[in-house]
Amino acid sequence: MQWPLVLTHFLDRARRLHHRRLIASRHAGGVFRYSYGDWAGRVDRLAAALTGLGVRRGDRVATFGWNSHRHFEAYFAVPCMGAVLHTMNVRLFPEQLAWVFNHAGDRVVLVDASLLPLFEKVRAQLTTVEHVIVMGDGEAPPGHLDYEALLAAAPARFDWPQLDEEEAAALCYTSGTTGHPKGVLYSHRSLVLHTLGIALTDAFQLREQDVLLAIVPMFHANAWGLPFAAAMLGCGVVLPGPHLQPKELADLIESEAVTFVGGVPTIVAGLYQHVKQEARKLPTLRQIIVGGSALPQVLLEGFERELGVEVVHAWGMTELAPAGSVSRLRAEMSEWPQEAKTRVRLLQGTPFPLVELRVVQEDGKEAPWDGVTPGELQARGPWVVRQYYNDPDSSLRFDGGWFRTGDVATIDELGYVKLVDRTKDMVKSGGEWISSVDLENAIMSHPQVAEAAVVAIAHPKWTERPLACVVPRQGKASEISRESIRAYLKGRVADWWLPDDVVVLDSVPKTSVGKFDKKVLREQFKDYTWPEVV
Ligand code: AMP
Repeated sequence: MQWPLVLTHFLDRARRLHHRRLIASRHAGGVFRYSYGDWAGRVDRLAAALTGLGVRRGDRVATFGWNSHRHFEAYFAVPCMGAVLHTMNVRLFPEQLAWVFNHAGDRVVLVDASLLPLFEKVRAQLTTVEHVIVMGDGEAPPGHLDYEALLAAAPARFDWPQLDEEEAAALCYTSGTTGHPKGVLYSHRSLVLHTLGIALTDAFQLREQDVLLAIVPMFHANAWGLPFAAAMLGCGVVLPGPHLQPKELADLIESEAVTFVGGVPTIVAGLYQHVKQEARKLPTLRQIIVGGSALPQVLLEGFERELGVEVVHAWGMTELAPAGSVSRLRAEMSEWPQEAKTRVRLLQGTPFPLVELRVVQEDGKEAPWDGVTPGELQARGPWVVRQYYNDPDSSLRFDGGWFRTGDVATIDELGYVKLVDRTKDMVKSGGEWISSVDLENAIMSHPQVAEAAVVAIAHPKWTERPLACVVPRQGKASEISRESIRAYLKGRVADWWLPDDVVVLDSVPKTSVGKFDKKVLREQFKDYTWPEVV
């Protein structure tokens, strides 16, 4: 029984049990398909090649890529050789990218050829990277190593080390409200237990017979652990690359006979609009897991009505590897009216086994499980972060052994969590974070702006978008407009951060201690409608 819980076991299992099952990876020219057997052989070669480059136990190896078969190979080669897979978020803007690469101390970076121009923008600022390996179908440009050439030259066998379950396997950074992103380091043990947890019938219900389309990016929160679960179970895997347009996804679901999809509401909603407009049926699809932002009711009902596809709502965070809770109906609800069932399925749900959740009120007392008393949601368990990676000041995010999520929630008598607000001052647009504080600072550097507060407003396509509430300097009101602020911010922040609208105020409401009172602003603009759907 003293047997280490390490990811190597899932790699062996995929190789020995599932070697005939297929993995499909979409690229510019079509779909590449191979078997888990071929995949495992290439995982061996990648580990051997990285060892040849000097990568040792504990070293960080970064990936900078879309969901592809090569990325899936790195997902196992790096942790199983005892190194740490650092999946870098390609949506960060250049200064953040450089800071994160340096903070992680990555020695090697595996970059998608299509993302090389973006990577090159930060390359000169990187202090620890020794090798850049380009993952693509053509040859790597001079000065870089070529993934395919490295694999072709590497020995076909690799002696996998005996790992300790507490060794680090992976590293993800998550955006903070202020300051730099924060790293979360996952042990082998945490990822193995997480994999078992998510696959359960009452959880994600993934099984060998499924063909999984992982839309959720492999650079965000371990792609919800789906790549690890796929290898453990041996289900079919479909990886879309950067081809995330609704029609491209629907085509892939059809051509690969996908049964199971995981993605954020924005992308899943795009898919829904497309299949509805085009009257497509996607007959193989049976289940969609939606998480990362709240699941809209129209999606849940629409997919079920039009296509007979079950949509399941889950809540999680990078700090929870990321699975926190999932909403499924209980036996006792089977006779409930449809409306009541829908209400339950739109909740964030009950914790996965081994995860414990509680709600703590402002006075520090735990809220009763009554479904109405809100407080901060806190979590603990074997895949919940205990501290941030090399970050001495993170103690405020912990309360004894509990991690403070920054989400405000209620829990009902049966343990179902409902998110009602968030204390994190962030905007979640299309599954990725915009720091309202960083955006405010950028706006307030405008010479004609006295004060600026940014709030998240619900958006039909992106779930949330930033609205900038701006107080002009005296006599300068005529110089402040949506266009002037956006033009000023261009180049100062990432394009996708640009506020969709700007409203001019006489003053920003303040709390008793003089901070911007975002609650009042959110309340004031709760019925706000965007001038145009972007
Ligand atoms: P991340 O670590 O980037 O995946 O973001 C985690 C945060 O996303 C959570 O703390 C929530 O604020 C938000 N989030 C994740 N899942 C949901 C959900 N199902 N409903 C509402 N918000 C969610």
